[in-house]
Amino acid sequence: MSIPAVMSPNAPAAGLSGEPDRDPITPPTVRMGTPPFGADGHGGATILIAEDHEDSRDALRTLLDAFGYRVHVAVNGREAVERARALAPDLILMDMMMPEVDGFEATRTLRADPEFRQVPIIALTAMEGAREQVMAAGCDDFMCKPLDVRAFLDRVRTWIESGRPAAS
Ligand SMILES: [Mg+2]
Repeated sequence: MSIPAVMSPNAPAAGLSGEPDRDPITPPTVRMGTPPFGADGHGGATILIAEDHEDSRDALRTLLDAFGYRVHVAVNGREAVERARALAPDLILMDMMMPEVDGFEATRTLRADPEFRQVPIIALTAMEGAREQVMAAGCDDFMCKPLDVRAFLDRVRTWIESGRPAAS
């Protein structure tokens, strides 16, 4: 398996920005020699990626898969809710702008379900100013596209390790 060039920790992650990857020439070198956490990653943890943009979804899946996570995907918010209920993931990565049911509504739906009050949901969005909105919808964290790969992996690990604070 190869890691797309967009995953270079030193370059903007073009494939995660919703933009087409404009650099198909760079060889898909694995640049994960010094992962932000142990080489064993977090094998066993299940992550659901809800993302309608195919390239972004594939890039995220490839990256997280390479780090030992069990990765599942959904292409819209409706599917995100269905798959979350079927999989009981340890973490959900939620694109906010998706067709049919967007990430805001999917997050609100999941949070209304007691089974999903404790599952960390990280919003992924290109909307810089959307933090308040996504937190109000029930997301725990907010990462702006294009993603910084190292920071992203670090955040994923932290949320999986610590989980969501118990609701008061
Ligand atoms: Mg989208």
